[in-house]
Amino acid sequence: MMRTEKRPADAAILVLNAGSSSVKFALFAAEGLQPLCRGGIEGIGSRARFGGATGARADLFEGAELPEASGHEAATQWLLHHIRRANDIDLHAAGHRVVHGGPDLSKPVVIDDGVMTVLEDLIPLAPAHQPHNLAAIRAVADAWPTLPQLACFDTAFHRTMPRLAQLFAIPHALTDQGLVRYGFHGLSYQHIADVLPGIAGELAKGRVIVAHLGHGASLCAMREGRSVATTMGFTALDGLMMGMRCGAIDAGLVLYLIEQRGMAPADVSEILNRRSGLLGVSGISNDARTLLASEEPRAAEALDLFAYRVVRESGSMIAALGGLDAFVFTAGIGERSAQIRAAIGEGLAWTGLKLDEDRNAAHETRISADDAQIPVYVIPADEERPIARAVAVQFPSA
Ligand code: ADP
Repeated sequence: MMRTEKRPADAAILVLNAGSSSVKFALFAAEGLQPLCRGGIEGIGSRARFGGATGARADLFEGAELPEASGHEAATQWLLHHIRRANDIDLHAAGHRVVHGGPDLSKPVVIDDGVMTVLEDLIPLAPAHQPHNLAAIRAVADAWPTLPQLACFDTAFHRTMPRLAQLFAIPHALTDQGLVRYGFHGLSYQHIADVLPGIAGELAKGRVIVAHLGHGASLCAMREGRSVATTMGFTALDGLMMGMRCGAIDAGLVLYLIEQRGMAPADVSEILNRRSGLLGVSGISNDARTLLASEEPRAAEALDLFAYRVVRESGSMIAALGGLDAFVFTAGIGERSAQIRAAIGEGLAWTGLKLDEDRNAAHETRISADDAQIPVYVIPADEERPIARAVAVQFPSA
């Protein structure tokens, strides 16, 4: 008989993060949670592109080519196919980022048919994301019918907010129907809450603002590692200025566009969700890098407004916290743009926050000056790890 070299199977946890135009995945060792492989497909809906895989098991995707024009379903199935065909990966369980858990789901939940029905009922609250999240769950169930699966919610982290932080000043009957501030980016904030004690020690228990500044952007005010206030609201359109989203604006402006300008709601939605933010103000790009490299006054104005909005909303977070002990930057812009961090730092100088120019330029973990009253940190975002942690707790491997 021929002897084949077979490596011992890696018991692994699969994490899927299906966005509106992307599907990210990560494989973690079921024991110890070392990352084995990560990657993702972007540009779904326009030009889908596999961004490659990293990690010790990047070999799973060696030479893999994503068929052009892959939609969400095809892209997810392509990813799962490459994991499934590896005979040395023994999937232990899967976890999913699900944007909306509604008013009641404040913890990860094990997926079954009943839970799927509940999550489907929440689609109207996040129509651009939730259907993709649920499709990813079904795709995994098709590929591995008996695999246990866990749903982890972007909204769940904020369910600890005091009632007043969740209320809008609208008729209470609407509030009772779930029209409240949910907040998003919760998995990113969970990750920061998980790692901050190891970085900032006791301060992590204090009054902390975390600024998640990526394509989407929001702030979270944390105390004892729990959310007490956040800038996103009933939807992910509220709060900070973003790449393409306007953030908080006068609701009267929306009414004016509909009632006086005769615009259809879908067109207003297109303007506020896809043609505003950095893109709308600059008229050039939604990508902060492009704007930073531009000489156009409108590019500078868009970046100035972005920083100004972070500063203004930070003031609101500080009021909700009753002070400030530490500030954390995370996600694309927060991790990589020293210039935007410096602008925000200047705007918040009144709090005692002061950046060290060299540390900031080098993107060090602590970028505040030694004589600053408020330490400032840069911590890479990781929405997949908290999901893997939750899966490991729910489905222990031993
Ligand atoms: P998402 O919110 O989709 O996960 P990211 O966290 O990757 O996105 O953030 C994307 C944003 O980060 C984009 O606006 C991009 O311009 C910005 N970004 C990435 N690298 C840099 C950089 N070196 N300087 C400034 N902005 C950057």
